[in-house]
Amino acid sequence: MSNGEVKQIDLSSQNVLAMRDAESALAAGATQVKVCPRGVITPSARDFLREHGIEVTTGSATVAATSSASSASAPTAAPAPAATKRSPADPRLFSTPEAEAVKKEICAVGKKLWNRSYVDGNGGNISFRIGPNEVICTPTLMSKLDLTPEDLCLVDLDGVQVAGKRPRTSEIFLHLEIYKAVPEAKSAVHCHPPHATAYAITGRVPPNNIIPEFEVFVGKVAVSPYETPGTAAFAQTVIPYVREHNTVLLSNHGIICWADTVTHAEWYAEVVDTYCWTLMNASMLGVPISQISEKHTADLLNIKKSLGLPDSRFDTEGIRECQLSDVDMPNSIALLPCSKDGTSPLSSDGPEMDRLVKTVTDAVMNAMKAS
Ligand SMILES: [Zn+2]
Repeated sequence: MSNGEVKQIDLSSQNVLAMRDAESALAAGATQVKVCPRGVITPSARDFLREHGIEVTTGSATVAATSSASSASAPTAAPAPAATKRSPADPRLFSTPEAEAVKKEICAVGKKLWNRSYVDGNGGNISFRIGPNEVICTPTLMSKLDLTPEDLCLVDLDGVQVAGKRPRTSEIFLHLEIYKAVPEAKSAVHCHPPHATAYAITGRVPPNNIIPEFEVFVGKVAVSPYETPGTAAFAQTVIPYVREHNTVLLSNHGIICWADTVTHAEWYAEVVDTYCWTLMNASMLGVPISQISEKHTADLLNIKKSLGLPDSRFDTEGIRECQLSDVDMPNSIALLPCSKDGTSPLSSDGPEMDRLVKTVTDAVMNAMKAS
């Protein structure tokens, strides 16, 4: 607007401001967008707003479009990478000896996923970052059981295909957002394992401190909000979580795991799904699940740290002691995800706790009536 008039679009009811919101704001002629103080602005949306001179405000103060809307307890998006100009993807990286080995590994992992019932129909996708701007990935519309090295594709970090006969998976953007946000991530595996996906469709996470292998290799998992698969908005939902979590439950969809190798990323899918399944089985026994002590959990987290694996319970000084246990709900197999400050929505007053108290009270009263 040339007359200096401010036109504000209010997006403060949204937890995540994604690219399509930024585009809508521009199309509506906004000069300012009001965002949720605890919300997240995805890096591409932030860049877009900045490029078009649209201010971001929380209502009380204008925040620089170069930072997240909040640094408080809500998960924050990864800081926008400095506008790095990437060199064009090199298609020759698709036929090196390393690439051929990676292709075989991807095919082997595809068979593992299918054999474990983690991918259905043409579902799931696998990728490996072979160069600074080059990613090998699975094609669209193929069962992961049937993959051969000739079926794979090479894309750049914008998702543009530069080699391979088949068209790339439409969900590659989910993988690419992880590679842009986490330099350590070399491979990502997305699948729909039934037990972990059962948690994802409830928006709940499994409790921690119950099985050592889960603590060391996965630990706390996050839940990202639902978006339509294959869209940029869907890909961006994981950005706030992937630095501190190698496994994210995708609401009403499945999971994504990242690791240093394709095989390891698939291992994490196995670890999280088996853990969820085991908890479900234990819950049928009708007796409380015992938790590993905080001291022993700290031992496990120290092992995890020495392996270079991420965990939201780490900080610069070591392990956040207050986040070691799920003492609020030790016998529940499904918890609401913790916010970044380590508090659980179930540990505070609120509608969820009210519902829980009512459920328990009703169960006790019914049991007393029956006896
Ligand atoms: Zn999927």
